Amino acid sequence: LKTLRLILGDQLNHQHSWFQAEPENTTYVMMEMRQETDYVVHHIQKVIGFFSSMRNFAEFLKEKGHDVIYFKINDKNNEQDLEKNLKRLISEGNFEKFEYQLPDEYRLDEQLKKICKGLNIETEAFDTEHFFTRRDDLEKFFKGKKQLTMEYFYRDMRKKHNILMLDSGNPEGGKWNFDKSNRKKWKAEPEIPHERGFRKDVSGILEEINKAGIKTMGKVNEKSFNWPTSREDSLSVLNYFCKNLLIHFGDFQDAMHTNEAYLFHSRLSFSLNTKMISPKEVTDSAVDYYYKHKDEIDISQIEGFIRQILGWREYMRGIYWKEMPGYARSNKLRNQNDLPPFYWDAETKMNCLHHSIKNSLENAYAHHIQRLMITGNYALLTQTHPDEVDKWYLGIYIDAIEWVEITNTRGMSQFADGGLVATKPYVSSGSYINKMSNYCTNCHYKVNKKIEEDACPFNSLYWNFLDVNREEFSKNQRMNMMMSLLDKKDSEEMEKIRKRAASIIEHPSDF
Ligand code: FAD
Ligand code: SF4
Repeated sequence: LKTLRLILGDQLNHQHSWFQAEPENTTYVMMEMRQETDYVVHHIQKVIGFFSSMRNFAEFLKEKGHDVIYFKINDKNNEQDLEKNLKRLISEGNFEKFEYQLPDEYRLDEQLKKICKGLNIETEAFDTEHFFTRRDDLEKFFKGKKQLTMEYFYRDMRKKHNILMLDSGNPEGGKWNFDKSNRKKWKAEPEIPHERGFRKDVSGILEEINKAGIKTMGKVNEKSFNWPTSREDSLSVLNYFCKNLLIHFGDFQDAMHTNEAYLFHSRLSFSLNTKMISPKEVTDSAVDYYYKHKDEIDISQIEGFIRQILGWREYMRGIYWKEMPGYARSNKLRNQNDLPPFYWDAETKMNCLHHSIKNSLENAYAHHIQRLMITGNYALLTQTHPDEVDKWYLGIYIDAIEWVEITNTRGMSQFADGGLVATKPYVSSGSYINKMSNYCTNCHYKVNKKIEEDACPFNSLYWNFLDVNREEFSKNQRMNMMMSLLDKKDSEEMEKIRKRAASIIEHPSDF
């Protein structure tokens, strides 16, 4: 049958079985579309990263001898809509079968199902052959359980895939989890190797994006684009990580510093989420490297890394498919505020937010703890509507694709799912930020003060947040200690805290 196969922008899996043979009568189609560039305002580096990687992938297919139709964003015959482009191609090309790989986003999954219903030719969906798990594996694993604890899922994955396991069936190093040793503050030592960066000239693509009039946010250096956009690039980032960064990954996983955008983080998320590399080759390479260098690298470093990929990443995917579409509307704490304007320009006197947002705008990147404990923490403490928070996270990060963005943002960071992903809200006052970073040293605000003019805003916001949600959090055992500390505050102090928090929430631009 004359077949048309669709490849979406995040399905750049060179190793997919589709490409191992050269089936006759098969044409591949890839499309840059306004449908994808406009569903949220994306960071300019994200749009460049996707278009460049897609174009490189199309070249790879052509070099392998495959027949490829590629719609560039300004092509005249590009209708900028998946359904319209597909329908026209199928009728003009007299295709007899349409095939696609299962999308990772609910939105596209629904759209493709609808398109297929409307086609009068045979259709078939294939697995992407990327993840360790299938869409419904997590749901099956937790069937009948009230709590979807990530740790149990992760242990099961370690056993199932025999990763960091001893022959005895026990975990390598005698423990499943070395989280407690992953909390060091970075004090300019050990030295952090420069990131495995790139200096690509992307001026051509940038011109095309501008010509198309796509609205974007953030900055780019068009002569020095710094992200992997091919499988070779991605493998070199992985190699670089194993050789140079793994050795301290776990220790400084939660650390933050004004001078360091990446610390010991891998910068692999874009390559992984576009499927230019697979999670299995990432874990295999890192574990191999660990076993070959066991005398230098502690188990806590590799375990911390494996937990992110084999644990959190697969877990979030499972949560997404279990909970969508309702998850996208969840707002357990009924938060209603707007996101402060400084999220778009980093213009704030709060040093931690200034640096985390600046990093995001300049690099389309922030590491996990900046996302969770700085920007996410502040958004939650100021009771921002999760829709607003989601839109920002989905746009700004180069690795943001809804399945992994929304679960981390609404779930882990904003507690909008009422505790499905995070058993208690990830909020803190300034003291946690001070413990894990050097942000407070040169901040306009004083981290030890609570309610004065120059007091760290996180402090009053924190107690105010617990106070506002008193009823909800009193039911949560994990919040007992903080709630009893809250109860000990006298009414005069609480009044001052409420007043200061209200002024921070109402006048974000003054802070
Ligand atoms: P590393 O720290 O080197 O970690 C290695 C890999 O582990 C990452 O590349 C990633 O694939 C995986 N990983 C680590 N933590 C998580 C996690 N919590 N969930 C899923 N995978 C994880 N990650 C995304 O890929 N896309 C997103 O849109 C995204 N949005 C986030 C929003 C918020 C509010 C938070 C708190 C986290 C978000 N994360 C997201 C998870 C995490 O912050 C990023 O994966 C990580 O910062 C990417 O940088 P890295 O590759 O250097 O990661
Ligand atoms: Fe952030 Fe407060 Fe520290 Fe300033 S003092 S950097 S606002 S935590």
